[in-house]
Amino acid sequence: MSASQYISKSMFLMGLQCAKLIWFRYNAKNQIPATDEAAQAIFDQGTEVGELARQLFPGGTMVAPGIFALDQVIAQTQQAIRERRPLYEAAFAFNGGYARTDILVPVSGDAWDLVEVKSTTSLKEEVHLPDIAFQAFVLSGAGIKLRKCFLAHINNGFVRHGAIDPQKFFTLEDVTRPVSVLSRGVEEQLGAMQRVIGAKAQPEIQIGPHCDNPYTCPMHDHCWAFLPEASVFTLYRGGKKSFKLLKQGVQHLENIPVDFPLTDNQAIQRAALLAGKPHIDRPALAAFLGQIEYPASFLDFETIGTAIPLFDYTSPFQQIPFQFSLHILRAADGEIEHCSFLADGTADPRPEFMRQLRDMLPATGSVVAYNASFEIGRLNECCELLPEFKPWLKKVTPRIVDLLLPFRGFRYYHPQQHGSASMKAVLPAMTGQGYEDLAIQEGGAASREFLRVTFGKVDDKERLCVRQHLNEYCGLDTMGMVQIIRELAKL
Ligand code: SF4
Repeated sequence: MSASQYISKSMFLMGLQCAKLIWFRYNAKNQIPATDEAAQAIFDQGTEVGELARQLFPGGTMVAPGIFALDQVIAQTQQAIRERRPLYEAAFAFNGGYARTDILVPVSGDAWDLVEVKSTTSLKEEVHLPDIAFQAFVLSGAGIKLRKCFLAHINNGFVRHGAIDPQKFFTLEDVTRPVSVLSRGVEEQLGAMQRVIGAKAQPEIQIGPHCDNPYTCPMHDHCWAFLPEASVFTLYRGGKKSFKLLKQGVQHLENIPVDFPLTDNQAIQRAALLAGKPHIDRPALAAFLGQIEYPASFLDFETIGTAIPLFDYTSPFQQIPFQFSLHILRAADGEIEHCSFLADGTADPRPEFMRQLRDMLPATGSVVAYNASFEIGRLNECCELLPEFKPWLKKVTPRIVDLLLPFRGFRYYHPQQHGSASMKAVLPAMTGQGYEDLAIQEGGAASREFLRVTFGKVDDKERLCVRQHLNEYCGLDTMGMVQIIRELAKL
């Protein structure tokens, strides 16, 4: 069997998700879009976590570092096995399957324990168990006597204090039993996948919930391209309903039969589309605007959240605010002022973030945020670390107004929102102002770019350039809120 025909662990998981996906992977790989930056960032974090996990079983051998030719890696694994030391990235092949294991640990006699490392905070049975079962099948077939199988995932309760202790950072879960049950089905699954891969034509697979479960498929845009822009999948909280409609042959929202059961908000969405104009609940919007007191402060945070905490007193994936933008309207028709904070340097940004925010935020008036529970959550977490800000936050919290609410409640709905109440959908629909001219267009990219230019090796010119982009992005979020409020007021 040539190396390119082996089914690796990740291909096997692709095959479990969708036969069409694995067919494309082996027969028309160039049609699968390249990994995007967000996915690459997750992958990179996984690599860091994997490296840390090796310290759970120190003194081991890294098998064939930097070598990608399967035959060579397998041959070097066979040599390394004789040393009876922990093995990192050992590789095996059996029955057309190819597995590179995170960690193999020698135990009593000539047996081994298999340890799969995941940068999640819990066992996700649906994806992790088939993954380990595949490896167990290949290793056993290749002659490795497996005693136990473990998943090493991140300990959800971990809080950093100084250097990371891998023993405290990871939780080892014994998954031997469910893995042994699942591994019995791997041979048949592999055979079925090989038949799919060997077929001349791609299998006819309809789109379905499997396209986003357990992961959003890289072929999503390709397979879903036949749908119109205002498709039934833009139905607000459509879920199974959208697939039911598609099954009935309804692709476009405006073709949903009148007797098809819709929620109130979904009915508003369809009616607005058919009318070709926004739905506006004027009394509700007036009541919402009436609660805003001036000076009104429009506030937005950007955060970072890494698998391995960067700072003391933080947990894995905890969102740490590093930037805020604040637009202030002294009166409804007054001038707009802007101030902001963007952390500089590699120290924990929270103390300075809180100091600057306390100093810049007006002492009275409403504080408007979009999806305010996020900002409130971060402020509360900061106060746990920095209790001196608690009295200040106690006064600020009752002043917070969530601008998401009138949109999530469909008090205003524009057909161009396509079923979404997010700021990224509402702002362009209401004002024509979009994010497409910005170098950074969403929060995930802001977080990645901040991490890259703050902790990575980049020159000052690039760092300054990215910081400028960060300021533009966060600033548009708060300026966008001002624009939305003004548009609402016109109504
Ligand atoms: S988008 Fe859906 S149907 Fe298309 S390959 Fe992916 S999982 Fe299969």
